[in-house]
Amino acid sequence: MSTAVYTHSECLSHVTPPGHPEQVARLVAVAEALDTPGFAALERRSAPLGEIADILRCHPQGYIDRVRAAIPEEGAGVVSLDADTHVMSGSWNAALRGVGGVCAAVDAVLAGEVGNAFVACRPPGHHAETETAMGFCLFGNIAIGAKRALDHHGLSRVAVVDFDVHHGNGTQDLLWDEARAFFISSHQMPLYPGSGARHETGAHGNVFNLPFPPDTAGPAFRRQYEAEVFPALENFRPELILVSAGFDAHRADPLAQMALVEEDFAWVTGRLCEIAAEFCDGRVVSTLEGGYDLPALGASTAAHVKTLMEHAQ
Ligand SMILES: [Zn+2]
Repeated sequence: MSTAVYTHSECLSHVTPPGHPEQVARLVAVAEALDTPGFAALERRSAPLGEIADILRCHPQGYIDRVRAAIPEEGAGVVSLDADTHVMSGSWNAALRGVGGVCAAVDAVLAGEVGNAFVACRPPGHHAETETAMGFCLFGNIAIGAKRALDHHGLSRVAVVDFDVHHGNGTQDLLWDEARAFFISSHQMPLYPGSGARHETGAHGNVFNLPFPPDTAGPAFRRQYEAEVFPALENFRPELILVSAGFDAHRADPLAQMALVEEDFAWVTGRLCEIAAEFCDGRVVSTLEGGYDLPALGASTAAHVKTLMEHAQ
């Protein structure tokens, strides 16, 4: 089986203000990293526009309307939703591609069309709460994908693993009451957005937070995943594993102080694929979250996707 990559040129039309770390050049770096001979076997697919019905499983209509109303006309500049979350004319379609990409990837993997999938879209999604855009994010793409797998496809147990260096507060908020989902986030603490303590465990014990101190490097990261994350994931017996793949825990990243390298992202990806192989025919859907040092982002994405390809079954 093959690995699919979902992306769309409209994700380049979300043009943040000069100097903003969540910039168009990130997706260019990702595309260039995957445009080498080693990735010739990737199945490249267009990320469709997301459906409002899918977003409504996580965000109320009033919030969707507020985001849409905030988007300025073409040429009308930038509107700030908070200190670091901005929208411009291209933002609506870009955000919908992220939703649609994850949902299409879930559909394709569950249909057995592809073994696993990576969604290369931006803006990211894991900080968007039920009624709050924040942290560069508008809609909770990965939680929306989880809800689609549960409600549309009828799965009973969907795991979401978030190794972005920031806590996935949005995904936690959107899945807090969802007993059929198990959300695992590892992240640096203290760091934006400030949530993600161990005592935040969800309404049904369905949230697991693993904070790491600054300067945590690969060996300690791997030890904690082996000791805590993988046993919890295996105990849950997932029918699908979704991944919030942020690469800002890389040692070169300017927004955080962890010290992972590409090989660590390949390792965690491989271990997640092994668990997926054991419990759910290898079904993994991963989506791009953070990662702000462009060379590290490109190299880490390449390592992640290469590992997905090696495990596609
Ligand atoms: Zn991040």
